[in-house]
Amino acid sequence: MKGFKTLRFRFAMWTAGLMVVVLVLFGAVVYISLWQGLSSSIDDLLQLSASQVITGLNIENGQIGLSDNLPDNLVAADLQARGFTIRILTANGKVLQSSGLYRDLPVDPASLQRAASRLSSLQTMNAGGNDSVRVYSVPVLDNQNLIGVVQVMQSLKTFNDTLNRLLAVLLVSIPALLILAALSGYYLAGRALSPIDHITRTAQQISAKDLSARLNLSGPDDEIGRLATTFDGMLARLEASFKRERQFTANASHELRTPLAAMQAIVNVTRSRRRSPEEYETAIDDLSEEADRLRGLTEDLLYIAREDSRPSGVQEEVNLSLLLRDVGEAMLLMAEPKGLRVIMELQDHLMIRGDSDALIRAFSNLIDNAIKYTQEGVIKIQGRRTKTAHIEILISDTGFGIAPEHLPHIFERFYRVDEARTTQGFGLGLAIVQEIISRHRGTIEVSSQVGTGTTFKISFAA
Ligand code: ADP
Repeated sequence: MKGFKTLRFRFAMWTAGLMVVVLVLFGAVVYISLWQGLSSSIDDLLQLSASQVITGLNIENGQIGLSDNLPDNLVAADLQARGFTIRILTANGKVLQSSGLYRDLPVDPASLQRAASRLSSLQTMNAGGNDSVRVYSVPVLDNQNLIGVVQVMQSLKTFNDTLNRLLAVLLVSIPALLILAALSGYYLAGRALSPIDHITRTAQQISAKDLSARLNLSGPDDEIGRLATTFDGMLARLEASFKRERQFTANASHELRTPLAAMQAIVNVTRSRRRSPEEYETAIDDLSEEADRLRGLTEDLLYIAREDSRPSGVQEEVNLSLLLRDVGEAMLLMAEPKGLRVIMELQDHLMIRGDSDALIRAFSNLIDNAIKYTQEGVIKIQGRRTKTAHIEILISDTGFGIAPEHLPHIFERFYRVDEARTTQGFGLGLAIVQEIISRHRGTIEVSSQVGTGTTFKISFAA
């Protein structure tokens, strides 16, 4: 049953179906045109022969001369030799003279009636058995008086035989061609579709655990070839994305474990003996700090998880000039205790469409990093429109800088320059920033020199 549902079977059936229509139409056209051609040539010959007979008639005193003996007439002899039957009748149908195979055939009254109206007629008559005869009857006139009728006949046996032979050839060859068309359709479809079966089998092998299977179809660059390449590309992307997800989960668990282990250690050490109230206070402060780190990390993780599954953020008109000023001012609280200056050079009305909460998060992260990784100097927040109608935001500091080997990785999730992990972050900040900026059709670039400072440049299409 399954075989009937395949594309291959349907393709074969369609080919056969189309062939039926084409062959039947072709057969019908050939049959009809042969039939028309043959019958009109027989009629033409009959008419020509009849006129030859009439020309040779001997008409005396308004009557057909009986002296004219047909077999002696040269024309008649010739016609008879070519299989024609000739009859000369009186006006009322009495046979005067006749020659040929069908000379005794009864006279059809209809032909006499038409002759009486001075009209010639063509009829097909049954001559017994399978034989039929074409009869052409012409009135013979003398001074507008009907004095007789000439009939010329020809057997239709050859005509019918030819048509029957053609019909037989068509009836045998059409089904044979149909079977051939269906079989070749089935074979060709099978050849064309076999890579698809290969794709199906490979797809069946693939599970979420093992996405390493590839089709690696080495065929021509046709529809199937392109399908296979697309399929392989999709698998590669899926595999990479699953790998990233697994890596992310592993990193996240690892990061969660560190503060938890620290908290466990603080509790164990504190409990190991009796402590003074000051020591308990310090332990609680340490615990609170670790809890803060945990909260920060879980918030980041939640944010990433939510953003990954969200189609697109809120869309509203955002005034970046005001937003950056607010964020910068809020960050002063962190910068001032470190003795850092914050300079803002922001053009007015830098407008983009987007999600203001997400943008606040992104810029806070960047400014927070600038403060975190700068010992002394200036944090600069600049915003301007460029010639190409882009909005450009620069956040620069005079901090530690980032070594060139780290620069390509700093936007990766969980990537930290400080391997000893003595700083507070988890390496998720810049990954989140990049995510938010690219959601706003923006780009982020970094340039940095160790010991001099770092500049992040964000560009938005206006
Ligand atoms: P974290 O939360 O650890 O700060 P980020 O993703 O924000 O993680 O940053 C990744 C790394 O890039 C940081 O560990 C830090 O070493 C480096 N980095 C980010 N911003 C700056 C900066 N302004 N100056 C120097 N280093 C920076």
